[in-house]
Amino acid sequence: GKQNPAQSSAWTHSDEGLKRVCSAPQLGDQEKGSLLKRKLSVSETEHSVLANGNNKHKKQGVTSNNHRARKTRMYRIFPEGGLDPNDVECSLCMRLFYEPVTTPCGHTFCKSCLERCLDHMPQCPLCKESLKEYLASRNYIVTALLDTLIKQYLGDEYEERSKVHQEETRELSDLTKNVPIFVCTMAYPTVPCPLHVFEPRYRLMIRRCMDTGTRQFGMCISDPEKGFVDYGCMLIVRSVHFLPDGRSVVDTIGGKRFHVLSRGMKDGYSTANIEHLEDTKVEDSGDLLRLQELHDAVYEQACVWFQNLKNRFRNQILQHFGAMPEQEANIQATTNGPAWCWWLLAVLPIDPPYQLSVLSLTSLRDRLVKIQHILTYLQSIQNN
Ligand SMILES: [Zn+2]
Ligand SMILES: [Zn+2]
Repeated sequence: GKQNPAQSSAWTHSDEGLKRVCSAPQLGDQEKGSLLKRKLSVSETEHSVLANGNNKHKKQGVTSNNHRARKTRMYRIFPEGGLDPNDVECSLCMRLFYEPVTTPCGHTFCKSCLERCLDHMPQCPLCKESLKEYLASRNYIVTALLDTLIKQYLGDEYEERSKVHQEETRELSDLTKNVPIFVCTMAYPTVPCPLHVFEPRYRLMIRRCMDTGTRQFGMCISDPEKGFVDYGCMLIVRSVHFLPDGRSVVDTIGGKRFHVLSRGMKDGYSTANIEHLEDTKVEDSGDLLRLQELHDAVYEQACVWFQNLKNRFRNQILQHFGAMPEQEANIQATTNGPAWCWWLLAVLPIDPPYQLSVLSLTSLRDRLVKIQHILTYLQSIQNN
């Protein structure tokens, strides 16, 4: 044949390079970077050789190879677009980049992977360059060119990666299975609960609540044996204020109460399978009348207790929890009963285990009776 010596040597050279690529195990990122360059240059060479179609000898060389090996190599030799999935893989999750972001030091990761690293340390996971300012700006812009290349040239892989991401998001959005649990303080329906989030695992948890759009997580107090107690309250995120160093101030309000059915863990934070708690409705008109009377009496008693508090305490409560909610026209309007009961339970000076026992009740009557006992006790102290 009329073999062009330059092309021939390029072929031999690239064939060697190719073998190295094919047999390459998990590589460090620097090595990967150089391989990517080599492979791209290899495929360019192959294309030019084949396009010229000028060397039968070379083609025979390929054909004589093991058929299977050839097939996989063919993909590498003639990649449709010149991109290998392994080369556009995140070094943190070892998967195809999803929403790739590039740090000021030039390293690229999936957005969510990088954010998880920054939860722990404001520095680049690869080169350790400080990313304090990057974190403070929270301006994680997707690297458009890379994103486009992946979608365009690795369409199938991207589809697959996308599906995995959606599946993960769906799992994280379930509000009864594997619900994230913040183990911290007592929370009650309708009562605001401001949180200062600084632990890495809870930063992740809050971000997931926002990313998935549920904007909810469970709140429980700790339990020395089980990790966290059997009853809790969902908290709904009203706003998140991220501080420059990655901590955040989260404004939440209590939602549904729940009973823990089983416990689990997810990426460092607790999770639980839960069932929601709802008050049992009183249907009998006589019972309802008595319930209303009890309700009115306890409400009155609560107002008296609050008015008799020292100014300092009253102001503290008002500042923290706002004013006591008004009475409601229909005391059974919601499955949690009147809001003022929860407000009162939050501000009363009683131990969390006792608060918890009231939270877990699904009878408004029982709840009112318990609150009545507490108020009567506190008033007896006030008067002495
Ligand atoms: Zn990743
Ligand atoms: Zn870096």
